[in-house]
Amino acid sequence: MRPLTYAAPATAAEAVSAVRGDPQARFLGGGTNLVDHLKLGVSTPGRLVDISRLPLDTVEQTEAGVRIGTNVRNSDLAAYPLLRSGWPGVSRALLAGASGQIRNQATTGGNLLQRTRCVYFQDVTTPCNKREPGSGCSALEGYGRYNAVLGASEACVATHPSDLAVALTALDAVVVVLGSDGERRVPMVELHTLPGHHPEIETTLSHGELITAVELPATPLARRSTYVKTRDRASYAFALVSVAAAVTLDDDGAVADIALAWGGVAHKPWRAARAEATLRGRRPDEPAIAAAVEKELREAAFGPHTAYKRPLLRGATTEALSRLLGGLDGKSDGTSEQEGAR
Ligand SMILES: Cc1cc2nc3c(=O)[nH]c(=O)nc-3n(C[C@H](O)[C@H](O)[C@H](O)COP(=O)(O)OP(=O)(O)OC[C@H]3O[C@@H](n4cnc5c(N)ncnc54)[C@H](O)[C@@H]3O)c2cc1C
Ligand code: SF4
Repeated sequence: MRPLTYAAPATAAEAVSAVRGDPQARFLGGGTNLVDHLKLGVSTPGRLVDISRLPLDTVEQTEAGVRIGTNVRNSDLAAYPLLRSGWPGVSRALLAGASGQIRNQATTGGNLLQRTRCVYFQDVTTPCNKREPGSGCSALEGYGRYNAVLGASEACVATHPSDLAVALTALDAVVVVLGSDGERRVPMVELHTLPGHHPEIETTLSHGELITAVELPATPLARRSTYVKTRDRASYAFALVSVAAAVTLDDDGAVADIALAWGGVAHKPWRAARAEATLRGRRPDEPAIAAAVEKELREAAFGPHTAYKRPLLRGATTEALSRLLGGLDGKSDGTSEQEGAR
């Protein structure tokens, strides 16, 4: 049996110094991911520093938007009226994740830093460069249905699992991080990394840096946002692909502003900036959306197990924009999620 100590510091600064000074220490949020990994032997920390009781559990309206404390539970955040009206896509992404019981326990910070669901990563009897650098990647020749199609490397083809992170990436969230040198702000698009030769490095945070909050800017675009997730079951399943989308139109019915991010395609939430650029100024009909998706996928690598993700991405992106606009090509069925998408 491996010895494991537990601490519950009273302040965020104490929590940071407790982890910072000990390479074997880990923050414990809701524990829904980390405790699983302890049981499986995937993670073997010597010390757990419980941050879940720190008073970082409020959602505050700010001049710029909203600030979400890292300990706000996923269920509470999804139901928060301010979030539902100002950032409906974030609320939908949260509700698309896990199950009610897990969402009651899972925290904002822990959700963003949950680890990949690659089956080999979770099976300590198999080679995995992320779990054990240099051991090899079992997913390259193995079960590959969940593998990445964008930004992968020979060392790792895993995807990032968080639904919340995809919505936050689309809507230009910023993560507030406390380290031993004080606070810094990290744009969501820069929080997670691509695998390269070091898939064991998953974020731009250093050991001991604590996510204390997430800030979301309030914009007209954010109010027109949604989240579409495709998965094997209606609940309790990770995304095969997912799309966070927001769109506004100009008076001619062309795209004035747009934000798109994809989940289930890469080692990080994928901001689809090329697709956005392709659609800006164009009427968002099905051919334009298909062209935009193809532009984003120009450097994608599909294998026999992942070829299905191409049409799925096209369909999910079309579905997301169609929902926001109440239909495409004048095929409106009047079910627009928000009144007056302009
Ligand atoms: C059956 C099942 C189905 C699921 N389905 C989905 C799904 O469909 N979509 C989805 O998005 N998620 C899904 N999840 C994952 C779930 O949402 C995560 O386990 C949860 O969000 C993690 O949050 P937590 O607070 O429990 O994190 P923890 O398990 O406590 O921590 C996770 C990691 O983050 C670190 N950490 C935690 N908080 C901080 C912080 N503030 N600063 C720095 N580091 C921190 C920990 O050290 C650890 O490495 C599922 C989980 C299960 C078990
Ligand atoms: S894809 Fe990444 S996480 Fe999965 S086995 Fe390969 S190295 Fe490990």
